[in-house]
Amino acid sequence: MELEKLIELDKKHFIHPTSSIQQQQANGPKAIIKKGEGIYLTDKNDNVYIDAMSSLWNVNVGHGREELVEAAAEQMKKLAFSSTFSTFSNEPAILLAEKISSIAPKGLNAVFFTSGGSESNDTAIKLARHYWRIQDKPEKRKIIGLNRAYHGVAAASTSATGIPEFWSMAGKMMVDIYHADNPYGNGTVKAIQSLRSVIESEGPETVAAFIAEPIQGAGGVLIPPKDYFQEVRNLCDDYGILFIADEVITGFGRTGKWFGIENYGVTPDVISFAKGVSSGYIQLGGVIVSDQIHDVLKDKSSGTLFHGYTYSGHPTAAAVGLKNIEILEEEELVENSRAMGEVMLEGFNKLKEDLDIVGDVRAIGLLGAVELVEDPALNKRFSRDLQVAPKVIEALHQRGVICRAVTYEDTDIICFSPPLIINKKQIETMTEKLHDAIKEVRNGLSATLK
Ligand code: PMP
Repeated sequence: MELEKLIELDKKHFIHPTSSIQQQQANGPKAIIKKGEGIYLTDKNDNVYIDAMSSLWNVNVGHGREELVEAAAEQMKKLAFSSTFSTFSNEPAILLAEKISSIAPKGLNAVFFTSGGSESNDTAIKLARHYWRIQDKPEKRKIIGLNRAYHGVAAASTSATGIPEFWSMAGKMMVDIYHADNPYGNGTVKAIQSLRSVIESEGPETVAAFIAEPIQGAGGVLIPPKDYFQEVRNLCDDYGILFIADEVITGFGRTGKWFGIENYGVTPDVISFAKGVSSGYIQLGGVIVSDQIHDVLKDKSSGTLFHGYTYSGHPTAAAVGLKNIEILEEEELVENSRAMGEVMLEGFNKLKEDLDIVGDVRAIGLLGAVELVEDPALNKRFSRDLQVAPKVIEALHQRGVICRAVTYEDTDIICFSPPLIINKKQIETMTEKLHDAIKEVRNGLSATLK
């Protein structure tokens, strides 16, 4: 269909997720993407972009993989869908549960499937409450998350999210969810003090679980200090609280390990996952639980587990997930993520030499960020009115790079999460374009800055 017509229909009929309706109505869609190949996306005007965010942190194996198309088609020809309720099962779902258990941290070996990250976190939170309830501790139902966390937009995951804008639409959705300070700018000691104080003021006997992303993504790629999660684990053990790691972004190789929490040498009780498990080729997510939790579920559950999505254990989604993990393994993409992450970080560090508004830069595997500040020595943030990060995103878009800014709490953070297949040359091109984009915005600010 013609571009003009598509734009008109988009404005008339399509309500976009996490978007400004005013902006859509004024300008139409930002771009209409028609094709993906490798790390590149092409729009209806034939502009080609580096997909520096793997779309939504999820297209880990890159775009246009025939193998995944074939895996879906083959499965759909045999059995596109059948339910796994009431203990019905199917082969791809069984094999994927086994495969995920084999790559998950030791001691986590049972999987509940969902269609995405929000459903996974709602499941993890409901399971945590259920786990205590069936052990005759129904009072253990409070959940603690972190400020700046993002866990999704379903009922429990909206509430667990620590970015208040996400509560603005319909309220906090679920009661008994609390937030502690994250380690960003606070360090481990203060962040742990904050968590301890929330646990103690609420009463540990009423707390079911603590939930956190190993690296906060939507919060701005905030990488906790090395010792943070060890302290979290100790605190959770001391108080008998389950630790849920939200690996929706950090799972499946993103950080140079299969799961992000492995960078911290601790084992959570529950892992929620989505995105990278299928590289976005099909909707898929789930939670992996520890043997301890699985044993309690097996021993103490009576009757039906009243939780399940129509698409839990979807055979086609599972077949794609299996093939996706096979690609990650065969092409050694977890290792590539680690190696290329170092190249990306080197590139970020070089920006600092030439550009006086580049503050902290960081990366862990192919998950990275560049912070822009008015004065790096003082870590002084720009005034919100200047819209520095959104301008850089726009300048990058003009140069053929799609990525994403986080401006929450007056930060100007440019996030990067390219496909794990990216090579050295492509990273260099990406960081050169970033250099030029920041420089252009910096020059535009000269009149404003002293
Ligand atoms: N958790 C994290 C850490 C996420 O980044 C996201 C999505 N960006 C979600 C949960 C929610 O996942 P979904 O959008 O698939 O529901």
